[in-house]
Amino acid sequence: MEAKWITALKSTLGEKYVRTAVVDRHSYSYDGSFGEYVPEAVVQVASARQVSEVMKIANHYRVPVTPRGQGTCLSGGPLPVYGGMVLDTSQWPASIEVYADDLIAEVSPGTLTSAIHQEVEAYGLMYPPDPSSAHVSTIGGNLAENSGGPRGLKYGVTKDYVIGLEVVTPEGEITRTGGRTIKNVTGLDITKLIVGSEGVLGVITSATLKLIPKPKAVQTIMVAFASMETAGRAISTTLTSGILPSKMEFIDHACVQAVEAYEPSGLPQDAEAVLIMELDGHEETLDKELQEILTIMKQLEATAVQVPETAEAAARIWKARKMVSPAIATIKPTKVSEDATVPRSQIPLMMKKLGEIREKYEINLVVFGHAGDGNLHPNILCDERDQAEMKRVEKAVEDIFQAAIDLGGTLSGEHGIGTMKSPFMENEIGIAGVDLMKRIKQSWDPNNIMNPGKIFAEPGQRLVLSRE
Ligand SMILES: Cc1cc2nc3c(=O)[nH]c(=O)nc-3n(C[C@H](O)[C@H](O)[C@H](O)COP(=O)(O)OP(=O)(O)OC[C@H]3O[C@@H](n4cnc5c(N)ncnc54)[C@H](O)[C@@H]3O)c2cc1C
Repeated sequence: MEAKWITALKSTLGEKYVRTAVVDRHSYSYDGSFGEYVPEAVVQVASARQVSEVMKIANHYRVPVTPRGQGTCLSGGPLPVYGGMVLDTSQWPASIEVYADDLIAEVSPGTLTSAIHQEVEAYGLMYPPDPSSAHVSTIGGNLAENSGGPRGLKYGVTKDYVIGLEVVTPEGEITRTGGRTIKNVTGLDITKLIVGSEGVLGVITSATLKLIPKPKAVQTIMVAFASMETAGRAISTTLTSGILPSKMEFIDHACVQAVEAYEPSGLPQDAEAVLIMELDGHEETLDKELQEILTIMKQLEATAVQVPETAEAAARIWKARKMVSPAIATIKPTKVSEDATVPRSQIPLMMKKLGEIREKYEINLVVFGHAGDGNLHPNILCDERDQAEMKRVEKAVEDIFQAAIDLGGTLSGEHGIGTMKSPFMENEIGIAGVDLMKRIKQSWDPNNIMNPGKIFAEPGQRLVLSRE
């Protein structure tokens, strides 16, 4: 017999928006991380009013609700670990209303982030947060994960560009936070609390984003180094020289080899470390900054420097950077992608520790990432079917988390906590810190129906990557 809450959803929303077929439910059972959990129903929503109705029914019947955008999460956030329903926003029509004179845009939650980039650029404006998944992830997911990307170095991440939200609470109330002004100090800053809350506090149904003028010109520079240590010095010397690049990305030797084997892209194959930078601003200023950076790189004995002269040549370099992830994914069947982040001065030490972890557990570990802001992506290439290897990988991941924390860093620079990192949260923020967050969650969601099983670990929960 059909559960009462499913019948209630069908009669409120209409049958076709409540999917219960096995094939539909399985399609919503996974994300970009590990683990598979099949929901009892998938509910497709397209308005705040519908979300409100769904939440009221869920709250009445005490049914778990897991919000979901495009399911690209790398930490388990959209997995329905306690069953119930997945609340799918991916079918919500995209809407981007640009108010150019106010430098803001109002967007609907299912809108792809790359569509926002494209739309606002037509007005000479820029929405800076640029996760690599921008073309396949929703702004709702980006807001819930506080996503960031290469431009985070100069411009910050999602939380720095959201000034207002419409949110449906776990009890089904439609509420607004913040507003449409850059300055707004009325009451507690609930907007910032919701951003990065990974769907455990409510459903984001609309967002007001802050935009900035699009820089008039950009200049890419690619530099190769014979050692990681020199690359580390190049990063800190550049950042203390008075120049702030918009992007400063790092690729290690193994990643360079993988990209070149996957699709030859002209990366310097003998380099131990490659830095790819982008400067942005006015053309005349860029030229001066470029000359200063070239002097720094010469002093640090860079083994190769490339300054592309056309937009196409620059695009090829950035395409090579984007190809790192798919290229390393061909090395072995399983890719465990981490985002441990350290203070920038600690990057060389973190790289040393990652080398030690690689040796200790005999694993295939490669590293790339956003060097300018200390957000490294150690990736372990392994085989999920090999239980013994996966046990070593689990231990290695734990060591990576601890190494980042020991160096004054964080478990996650951008992928979030979800199910994957919750057992380690206490190591970073302490018992009191976790308790404070639990109390906020309890007061927002007294029946614990909003994305339960995320952020907070169950007693005895540990990281499991193997198929046990
Ligand atoms: C190839 C690849 C590259 C990536 N690169 C980056 C990167 O550079 N930077 C980065 O930060 N991340 C990156 N990610 C991770 C991922 O893309 C981001 O976390 C993204 O923001 C998730 O968006 P989504 O629409 O897929 O959300 P989902 O994965 O569906 O959901 C993510 C979380 O948000 C919650 N959620 C979704 N919509 C809502 C809503 N409307 N209201 C409340 N909660 C909601 C979900 O419950 C879940 O907890 C990458 C992932 C992949 C696969």
